[in-house]
Amino acid sequence: MRRLPVYFLIDVSESMAGDPIEQVQEGMGSIIRELRRDPYALETVWVSVLAFAGQAKTLAPLQEVLSFYPPRFPLGSGTSLSKGLGHLMYELRKNFVPTTLEEKGDWKPIVFLFTDGVPTDNPSDLQAAIAEWKRNWQRKVNLVAISFGDNTDSRVLGELTETVLLFKDTDQEAYKEFFKWVTASIQTSSKAVDTHPDGIELAGSDGDTISKIDLSKTDFKPPTVDPFIVLLAKCQNTKQAYVIKYKKHVFADDSGDIGLDYRLVGAYKVDDTYFELADEQSSNLKVSTSKLMGFPSCPCCGNPYGIALDGTCGNIHCVGTEKVSTCPWCGNRASYSAGGDGFDINRAKG
Ligand SMILES: [Zn+2]
Ligand SMILES: [Zn+2]
Repeated sequence: MRRLPVYFLIDVSESMAGDPIEQVQEGMGSIIRELRRDPYALETVWVSVLAFAGQAKTLAPLQEVLSFYPPRFPLGSGTSLSKGLGHLMYELRKNFVPTTLEEKGDWKPIVFLFTDGVPTDNPSDLQAAIAEWKRNWQRKVNLVAISFGDNTDSRVLGELTETVLLFKDTDQEAYKEFFKWVTASIQTSSKAVDTHPDGIELAGSDGDTISKIDLSKTDFKPPTVDPFIVLLAKCQNTKQAYVIKYKKHVFADDSGDIGLDYRLVGAYKVDDTYFELADEQSSNLKVSTSKLMGFPSCPCCGNPYGIALDGTCGNIHCVGTEKVSTCPWCGNRASYSAGGDGFDINRAKG
């Protein structure tokens, strides 16, 4: 049986922390459940899941739907599209069965790329990866690039493929609808392989939750202020790492001037994969806490203060009611009192 390979290349940068990554996790589960009930998909579709942040890795190697178990999605720091593309091309090289005189190989693979932010790559690395993609894979693969929200660089995505879509990731219903659409697109494509062997048949959409980005019209400018700020912290008690996520908030103050601050979205545990997927160079972006509104408790141990800054190493950890706290990053011991002015903290890149 000829295979229809379907790859998911998923941005797991830290701006995906919280609801987005949980929705992707659930969505992958629903895709697989649906495909298992579909005789065409069962016969032809093979699925693989790849993740990228500052680094890229295979979460699930290419396999048939029946034996596929959706992986757990990690988070990482950074958005290296060049590493993501490089890893995708490595997997394609490794797995792709070409058609020869003797045997019929794979159908044209389909790749769904999900990303929510602007690449943090070195521009020359990104250009090199895009050039390799164009040279070796663009014509052999159907790539569907999907921007989660409107903070991505649609020009870069438009270099990879003509099919660049905007998904308005507004709420849980939107995610449900989105993953239904992905499933339907895989199903229609797997049904059409015989008659339409080089194509992909995207399912219809209402044009609201999912819409095509007109690349001839987009005049993309990278956002001047980041849509998210994500801070890395460690629990004093469990030594486990967590991220604290803030979202940009624009408002008009009493005198009608436009103000900007960042509102707390939540704090989320991360595992060691976070460090495995992080950018090589550590970030020295600084943000003042006076712009951060709302402080979380520790998601690991429940300590009431999830954002205390250690003066020795400059890292963040949780603090409880103990008299003397020990920094889980460097072992420094210090006393903390709640409140006080803003201070500068190192931030991760997203
Ligand atoms: Zn803690
Ligand atoms: Zn420290």
